[in-house]
Amino acid sequence: MQARSAKGWMAIVLPLMTSLVLLLLILALPFGRGIAAELGGRWYWQTESEAAAGAPWQSFDFPHTPPVGSDDDKVWLKTELPQELPHDASLLIQTRDQAFEVWLDDECIYRYGELKPSFMSYGQRWHIVSIPDDAGGKELRLHAYSASAHSLGYFGKMWLDSNVEQVLRIFRQDVPYAMNIPLAGFMLVMILIYATSPAAPKRLYKSFIAFIFTFLCWMVCATNSKQYVLDAPVFWRFCMQSAEYLLPLLANMVIFQVVDTSYKRMVRWTVFIYIVLFLGVLSAEFLGFNGMSRGQAAFYFLLPVMEGIALYAIWRSAHQGNMYARAVSVPLVFMAGAGTIDGISLYGHKVLMEGYVLPYTTLSLCVFVVFIVRHQIKRERTLMSRNTGLQQEVSQAMEKAVRDNLTQCYNRNKLEAVLAEEIFRHQKEEEPFSIIMLDIDFFKHVNDTFGHEVGDEVLAGFAEVVRSHIKKKDLFVRWGGEEFLILFQHCTGEEAMMIAERLRVQVSMAKIHEKCNITCSIGVASWHGVTDSATQLLKRVDDALYTAKRTGRNRVCREPRNNMHWFKNLYNEEGTE
Ligand code: GH3
Ligand code: MG
Ligand code: MG
Repeated sequence: MQARSAKGWMAIVLPLMTSLVLLLLILALPFGRGIAAELGGRWYWQTESEAAAGAPWQSFDFPHTPPVGSDDDKVWLKTELPQELPHDASLLIQTRDQAFEVWLDDECIYRYGELKPSFMSYGQRWHIVSIPDDAGGKELRLHAYSASAHSLGYFGKMWLDSNVEQVLRIFRQDVPYAMNIPLAGFMLVMILIYATSPAAPKRLYKSFIAFIFTFLCWMVCATNSKQYVLDAPVFWRFCMQSAEYLLPLLANMVIFQVVDTSYKRMVRWTVFIYIVLFLGVLSAEFLGFNGMSRGQAAFYFLLPVMEGIALYAIWRSAHQGNMYARAVSVPLVFMAGAGTIDGISLYGHKVLMEGYVLPYTTLSLCVFVVFIVRHQIKRERTLMSRNTGLQQEVSQAMEKAVRDNLTQCYNRNKLEAVLAEEIFRHQKEEEPFSIIMLDIDFFKHVNDTFGHEVGDEVLAGFAEVVRSHIKKKDLFVRWGGEEFLILFQHCTGEEAMMIAERLRVQVSMAKIHEKCNITCSIGVASWHGVTDSATQLLKRVDDALYTAKRTGRNRVCREPRNNMHWFKNLYNEEGTE
């Protein structure tokens, strides 16, 4: 029931979220383009050493980065500002692992970092650089330093716009994250809830939770707005790069859990290689070698190979009917594709897209989430029905353990339990209860004359007759052989005597077996109160039965009256014995 409501919940929330994401995307994209004032086009560059030697400037197309050789760690870039500047003009610049200065003609107007090596580099950050009103037509120069050749001279797209527009642009660029972070967060919470179920594939969930969590962290690091909350460029850069190394690692751990056994080995190898690479770049980073950025070359080389292997394992498993593999292939294909586009954009310094494509693949993750949750609900249902079946079997077995096969009466086990319970209960309620013991007369004779089988039929028939004349709540027990016992709750000795007498008559009148007439003798005894015990009670009823046998059989006898202590007031003074 719980599982069904969660499923219904998902069926509503997921399409809603999806349509919201698409709607906002449609709204956000043209709006962003309409007010863009990009400072692209023809730019010039020269390295620090070329500048010192007075070499000529070389031209390049911004926002592509200039082809600086790996020997140089400082570069100059320049362009000319337009004659007409927006009001309150400012530049919006994005940097990674780079210290830089902004010069207007011969005046430095902005500085970030020291233009020399720094521990763990300079992080990732956006900068809004105010441009003076009279700067129209002036020469804009950027003097940059980076220990990583791939980051040197990389400023993303550069925007020249009014201050207000720049701030708006920063938030607008976060629209994809603003939608995908809650969606990924929602999936994470949902999987966390589902992971607590006993039917959950725990290892798969652990890997998947780690993956979604890392993906969430990566998206948070990729936002612009985070800088308003915590202006810690080095920390954000470190988190983001770590997440980039970890994402394919964790993705392959998820894949490892779902592929067929024969392909697990190869996927485990890819995970191992990713781990070695990550630990390597991490140590190099902490030793001050800028390992995270330098390791990117190896990472982007390994990525297609490792994911190719993972994809092969998934494809083979899916081919052999593995449904999990089929479901996981959707996000893997999308994420690998988006990762490749982002990788080329960043590493090759070709700005294919503004910002990352990867966040949009959150939707493809939903496919996998929906699948595993649906699968789990199915498993839960199977488990539940199996559980109900087991419970039924257990209760049937328990019922069998206290029943007598031949007569379908309860056996001694049941009587002992019920008697103890009854005494305990009546101690509080101070109410009487009674038992009667029935014994078939001359039963040995029946056996001896007509055979054991007829004896059995007589026993079953006798039980049937008695049962049909007592209430369901009266506990009917085969005490042993041809002796039976009935417990009447809330019943005085008087009432028990009347019932016993009625039963005796019914038995003697009933045609239990065509070959013989059956009668029975009955003893009656009642509980005497707190000082009484089950053993004493059974002894008294047995004595009463013995009296009935001794005094001629086919009769009812009650325990002697001088035995009655506690419930005397409940007995009719004229009561028969
Ligand atoms: P009384 O009137 O004094 O009770 O005489 P009785 O013959 O009924 O009593 P007795 O205790 O001497 O004999 C009981 C017989 O019941 C002995 C035994 O062989 C028989 N018996 C006990 N259990 C079963 C059973 O399950 N099936 C059959 N057919 N006979 C049973
Ligand atoms: Mg007997
Ligand atoms: Mg008998």
